[in-house]
Amino acid sequence: MTQTPRAPEEDSGAISFEERLDAVERRISAACARSGRDRSEVTLVAVCKTWPPEIVSAAIRAGASVLGENRVQEGLAKAPLCPSAEWHLIGALQRNKIRHALSLFTVLHAVDSVECLHDLARIQAETGARPDVMLEVNVADEATKHGFSPQSVRDGVRAVLDDGEVRLVGLMCIPPWTPDPEASRPRFRALRELRDALEKEFSVSLPCLSMGMSGDFEVAIEEGATHVRIGTALFGRRTAGAWKPQRSADSDSYFLQP
Ligand SMILES: *Cc1c(COP(=O)(O)O)cnc(C)c1O
Repeated sequence: MTQTPRAPEEDSGAISFEERLDAVERRISAACARSGRDRSEVTLVAVCKTWPPEIVSAAIRAGASVLGENRVQEGLAKAPLCPSAEWHLIGALQRNKIRHALSLFTVLHAVDSVECLHDLARIQAETGARPDVMLEVNVADEATKHGFSPQSVRDGVRAVLDDGEVRLVGLMCIPPWTPDPEASRPRFRALRELRDALEKEFSVSLPCLSMGMSGDFEVAIEEGATHVRIGTALFGRRTAGAWKPQRSADSDSYFLQP
């Protein structure tokens, strides 16, 4: 078994974003080549949570075209201060933030309940928004994690088919943390096999698998990932006291900027 190559120096401030992006790009291409896949099958989502708009703007100018945020309000506050880009919501979608989320995000990676799917269908019908949607699956049944269980995700697919409104494109997972990327391989494979089973059972097409982060994205690509969500390997380590959206007296007001 060959060792998966690691990033050369993940935390040194001496390395520019361009260099990190270049290194990640090369590792993505190598993983695609190893598994007989085309580079165009994998979307790099640059996860910029906690990083200020200046840093994110520089990243976009350096070639990061798809940005990922895990909180709706952080994306909404940041995006207007950055050059134009595609924004993906990689964190759970809270039911009371759906309308706000639809004003920015074109891909929702982590919808995690039937109730949320029904709300999404209703609000999409009202607003005409049509984001791509993936369902988060709690592949290891961790009590601390969001997501459908591998069994209950069927209820999610059924809800989507009943409502006929949401564009479901695939599944997403965050496996339990481990220092060994190979330990995540069975989880990634399980998500792919679950996807295959759902496609058969419901006669639907679910082309997307959002899986793989800084520590394990190469293994995820080898197991079929179409979206890798990478933060630390691109931006460096996130620190405490990171950037937060400015809140005014009316705590909802930053949602209202155009
Ligand atoms: C933060 C985050 C990532 C990126 O994690 P890194 O290890 O920094 O690459 C990916 N996915 C989700 C859902 C996240 O919240």
